[in-house]
Amino acid sequence: MPRCRVCRRQAWIKIPWGNTWFCKEHFIEYFERKVLRTYEKYVRGAHKRVLFAVSGGKDSIAMLYSLAPKLLEKNCEVSVMFIDLGIRGYSEYALKIVENAVNELRIEFKIYDLREETGYTIDDLAETVRSNIFRKSICSLCGTIKRYVYNYVATKYDYDLVLTGHNLDDIYGFIMSNLATGNINDLIKLKPYIPGSKYFVAKAKPLFFNYEYENKLYVTVKELGIVIQKCPHAPIKEESLVMSFKKELYELEKKHPGIGLMFVKNFVKNIQPYITRKEPVEKIVKCNMCGLYSSTNPCSFCRIKLKLEKIFKKS
Ligand code: SF4
Ligand code: ZN
Ligand code: ZN
Repeated sequence: MPRCRVCRRQAWIKIPWGNTWFCKEHFIEYFERKVLRTYEKYVRGAHKRVLFAVSGGKDSIAMLYSLAPKLLEKNCEVSVMFIDLGIRGYSEYALKIVENAVNELRIEFKIYDLREETGYTIDDLAETVRSNIFRKSICSLCGTIKRYVYNYVATKYDYDLVLTGHNLDDIYGFIMSNLATGNINDLIKLKPYIPGSKYFVAKAKPLFFNYEYENKLYVTVKELGIVIQKCPHAPIKEESLVMSFKKELYELEKKHPGIGLMFVKNFVKNIQPYITRKEPVEKIVKCNMCGLYSSTNPCSFCRIKLKLEKIFKKS
């Protein structure tokens, strides 16, 4: 009978990458310590107002429950932001999940309602993508919107750090696909922590070194509510390059447990400093429409908004 590494009682789960068994209690302890360690190791500067971007999925819920209480103990002001993307049959459910979490943890809650703020929803945008009006996929446009909103909400309410719940599998897939396509510029910003500037709020990914399965186990053992529905706009047929590499990683891990973690750690330690030295000086301009900073004027968010306004006016 396998035994917990810490207390020697009957184990509940094996963590393959460390070839370690834990009981439920000590798995929770291990997980929370790991997330806090990533945060403390990489997040620089005394951030006192921290905004958790929470979608209701397993990763962001795991990030919230494991880290928010620890930051509150450190006297940080902590809030949760939820973006209501207006996806029918999905966003309402996700909002309820996040609301329950926020009530349970007694944390301040900010909701950004895309329809109220801009007049359109992701459902509207998906409709135009289907008619080939945008050259990008709906998920890529949705990603642009989310990144903009994180910075917008944080700037508006004076937060100095935004946390997002990307997991190690996502990071691995992103690194591999960008290496494959030679898109090195996108890898320059792929760090567990990006300091703030006078233009942008600091951002961190405390689950950078957490396998997706670890986050799943954490929400399972803590019996936390998470969104289980799939977004109706998630690609069904065609598989993205990131997804293909993530699947490759699952196969690799069966033969070489921990290979993904080793890869991502080495990327941060050995490759990231090298490509950062080659970082091109990015042009930053003020967007005439929203007043925030971006590499283009209007910014990508306002360009999407402009395009949609034109389309809806015509129809
Ligand atoms: Fe947005 Fe795509 Fe995620 Fe749906 S699946 S929430 S459209 S990024
Ligand atoms: Zn134990
Ligand atoms: Zn703008």
